[in-house]
Amino acid sequence: MIQKLTVGMLQEHTYFFIDEVTKHGFLVDPGDEAERILNKIKQEEWVIEKILLTHGHFDHIGAVAKIKTSLGCLVVIHEEGKDYLHNPEWNLSGRYGEAYTVDADYYVKHGDVITLEANSNMNLKVIHAPGHTTDGTAYYSEKEHIAFVGDIIFNGAVGRCDNPGGNMNRLLSAIRAQIFTLPDATILYPGHGPYTTVKHEKDTNPFFNFYE
Ligand SMILES: [Zn+2]
Repeated sequence: MIQKLTVGMLQEHTYFFIDEVTKHGFLVDPGDEAERILNKIKQEEWVIEKILLTHGHFDHIGAVAKIKTSLGCLVVIHEEGKDYLHNPEWNLSGRYGEAYTVDADYYVKHGDVITLEANSNMNLKVIHAPGHTTDGTAYYSEKEHIAFVGDIIFNGAVGRCDNPGGNMNRLLSAIRAQIFTLPDATILYPGHGPYTTVKHEKDTNPFFNFYE
């Protein structure tokens, strides 16, 4: 089961990926409004085992510290995410408000698999797709045909590449190699805006159809 809350000034999507049987699950990119996210988790009686971060930008990590303290769950990010979590200039928190840093518990790499402790049938594969940031990561469930893609790709757009660690050529190649090679029907849940599918973006995304 997937639910979401849209939080903060940049209207970032925080996703809940929950096993309906055990009510255990993952929280993807709690970007802001920690109290609202915590209330939702409490109301639904979910147990969040891990917080998964698609990258270390402030609008995706802003509620991590409070939620981690409150729930005691562990925080996962790609190994390149250290550069963002530990540096307010890279995570952009200093530019948009009070500068802060965040600590993670697990630094993962491409190909790693994150399994739900309460139900080993539920897992997500780590896909490294840098370019928006050096740590850009999608979390892919082959079984559910879904991927949480952060700011790698959006419905009709791709992530901006003009912030620290950004590189447009790198992003477009990563999307071709890592996202467009997933099954066509895979639903992509981005950090902002409406969801989409691999096929829809392959067919219509202007970054690939006009500039190729
Ligand atoms: Zn971002």
